Amino acid sequence: RKGELRKLLDQPTVTQDGHRVELASNIGSVEDLQKVLANGAEGIGLFRTEFLYMGRSTIPSEEEQFQVYKHVLERMNNKPVVIRTLDIGGDKELPYMKLPAESNPFLGLRAVRLCLDQQEMFRTQLRALLRASSYGQLKIMFPMIAVTGELREAKRLLQEEKEKLIGEGVPVSDKLEVGIMIEVPAAALAADFLAKEVDFFSIGTNDLIQYTMAADRMNENVAYLYQPCHPSILRLIRMVIQAAEKEGKWVGMCGEMAGDETAIPILLGLGLHEFSMSASSILPARALIKGLSHQEWAGYTEEILAMSTQESIHAFVKQKTRSDL
Ligand code: PEP
Ligand code: MG
Repeated sequence: RKGELRKLLDQPTVTQDGHRVELASNIGSVEDLQKVLANGAEGIGLFRTEFLYMGRSTIPSEEEQFQVYKHVLERMNNKPVVIRTLDIGGDKELPYMKLPAESNPFLGLRAVRLCLDQQEMFRTQLRALLRASSYGQLKIMFPMIAVTGELREAKRLLQEEKEKLIGEGVPVSDKLEVGIMIEVPAAALAADFLAKEVDFFSIGTNDLIQYTMAADRMNENVAYLYQPCHPSILRLIRMVIQAAEKEGKWVGMCGEMAGDETAIPILLGLGLHEFSMSASSILPARALIKGLSHQEWAGYTEEILAMSTQESIHAFVKQKTRSDL
């Protein structure tokens, strides 16, 4: 089976009926790139930049960040690279930043909320990203957007730094895309508004499931509620994809669900464009998708969304994929 998968390394990810999707990889550092390239990823769908900030005693400088982002873009050789701005707070702490003690950190000053509060730190990262943009196909992504106002403020800061850099004669790519993660239920439910103001969405199911089900993603006692294929989650995903399509924007997914073999056929049918997962999941996912029909799975969508439990949805997918193989 390994040898069979190897044959798919340089192949595009196309279904039986000619529908193409992109299989990208999640990374947390430059060290992950080797594995990404060795497994035939078509891009980076999520670079979690917080790891640049962790395990050290000071904030990384603009120059240091620029070198890292440039390196990733160059290694990916003009393939799309989605870099997420700092997503700290919640479960991830920075010892050198005096973050307020909060009784509900996952509902607190986290990710873009913190960045909008600590604007100098945020501007430094945005400048590093903008400078790197001319070395490849960069897409900047803001995490944890809940309301339009946060997106507008983040875009305003980005625009200000961009104008400053251009004024200084520093090249900035004019193909740079700006998107957001959809991982807060409020953002999924208002995706039609947000879609007008971004170039793309990437659905962060790790958080979207936790916040929708009100179940801590790390808490074993409520793990039974953590259901990627629950109808509530699938309905939100459909809503997000439809809202984006209406505005002609693309939608990816960078939560664990994107690499889940039971979820993939459903997501394909819903029209997801990009699937971003750990490097080791890429080739198995490509093999799976190459055996599926997009038309067929799009046709099952209504039936699937009319099922009331994750168990019945799983059983449906298992039955249909078994008869495909
Ligand atoms: C997510 O929430 O799905 C996601 C990809 O982000 P993280 O796991 O880093 O919170
Ligand atoms: Mg998240």
